[in-house]
Amino acid sequence: MEFDLLPEPFRFAGYGQDLEANLARAPVEVIRQCQAKRLLHVVRYAAETIPFYQDLWREAGADWRSVRSVDDLHDLPTWNVEHQRRNIEEKPPWGDCYNPEISDEIAMMLSTSGTTGTPRLFPVGYGDIPGMRDIMARCFHYLGLNNRDLLHVTFTYAPMGAAWAFTWAAQGAGIGLLPASSGRTTESRRQIDLIRRAGVTVLAGTASFLTRLAEVAVEEGQDPSAWKVRKIVIAGELASVGVRAKLESLWNAPVYDLFGSVDTLTWSSIDCEASRCAHGAIGAHIWQDACEIEVLDPEGNQVPDGEYGEMCITSWVWRSSPKIRFRSGDLVGVERSQCSCGRTLARMLPPRGRVDHVIRMRATSIHPMAIEQAILDAAPGCTEWIAEALQEAGSDRLRVTIETETPSDEALRSTVQAALRAKLNLGMIDIVLSPPHGTAELTGSGREPKVKRVFDRRLS
Ligand SMILES: [Zn+2]
Repeated sequence: MEFDLLPEPFRFAGYGQDLEANLARAPVEVIRQCQAKRLLHVVRYAAETIPFYQDLWREAGADWRSVRSVDDLHDLPTWNVEHQRRNIEEKPPWGDCYNPEISDEIAMMLSTSGTTGTPRLFPVGYGDIPGMRDIMARCFHYLGLNNRDLLHVTFTYAPMGAAWAFTWAAQGAGIGLLPASSGRTTESRRQIDLIRRAGVTVLAGTASFLTRLAEVAVEEGQDPSAWKVRKIVIAGELASVGVRAKLESLWNAPVYDLFGSVDTLTWSSIDCEASRCAHGAIGAHIWQDACEIEVLDPEGNQVPDGEYGEMCITSWVWRSSPKIRFRSGDLVGVERSQCSCGRTLARMLPPRGRVDHVIRMRATSIHPMAIEQAILDAAPGCTEWIAEALQEAGSDRLRVTIETETPSDEALRSTVQAALRAKLNLGMIDIVLSPPHGTAELTGSGREPKVKRVFDRRLS
């Protein structure tokens, strides 16, 4: 049978040699033609069936018929989570950014946590799951997973999307599943026991939690590097080069980053072997038959390749609610030159956090990832930390607390302080050393699925 790169709308080809040849290693022009076909379809579909886009585009005076390729995307307005929140409040319970038929086919109701405003509801239809499963199962096969693998999922089985996406994907790819959930549901020692006794071969979770699991095992006198775990898939949280390297060595297994979001229910990119070897530094390949990622400056203009800005995604994975020019708030870059692995698919450079998590002090913007890398360069192994922006006597200061086995080591403290001041080009940095687990209460490390490390206390 002839290979079909674009099967029916909202479905995606599986992983294999054909996909490598016809998409991942195809000439860039071929990839763009494939995107144009899907874009034409999804824009028409949105204009004809989704009230939210009908209103958004009419109000912006945008003509959707002018969009013929990804180059024309700027003809359409962008929107973000604030638009969505207003839309949900005006049209409860979940707004009108859906094909109205969703009400008759709900498979699952997901929701955000609501820590930043009203929780947003996300209905997922039975018709939505096959396409999402296509992309996720593709990611697993791309990593070489197969029916002999057992996948241990540590994302929370809750109304958040990640655990369910991994579950659909494992089922779509024919991979065994161990639904462990987070440390709150299945305590760390019990998770370790499960991983060892069940012979888990693949771990999925945030880098911080999987690091913590290995450390707990070591503290118990066990050696997780000798167990059967052969691949680690991280998602849902930023992980610096140093954190990834530490995770690989603790488990003695390669670490691959998978990028997705609950707003789009699209797993848009995944590390190739070349990116894995660089601990993510060269960027993860984007499945461009499923989405297009633009990078925008605060004025909404596209930034040059390789430069950072806000992620703006157009994704035709979620059948009931495709996202067209959705500004996600993630600080990312996209590199479109050919990868050293030979693939021509564009790459998403390592996310540097949220556009609104960047701390601004004086005229400097400080990204959470820059702080983490500076700490690791100065004090290898110090992966647990927090940074707090404070105001003292009318001036801004950044207080960075790092965990160490030797919290009274004054030489270490002054070395790290000098290194961070130089690296971040900021004089007002103070370092505090804390014994192990001293920052866990604030970050939620080992307990929460996503840790929080940067706190701006000048606002409160
Ligand atoms: Zn590559």
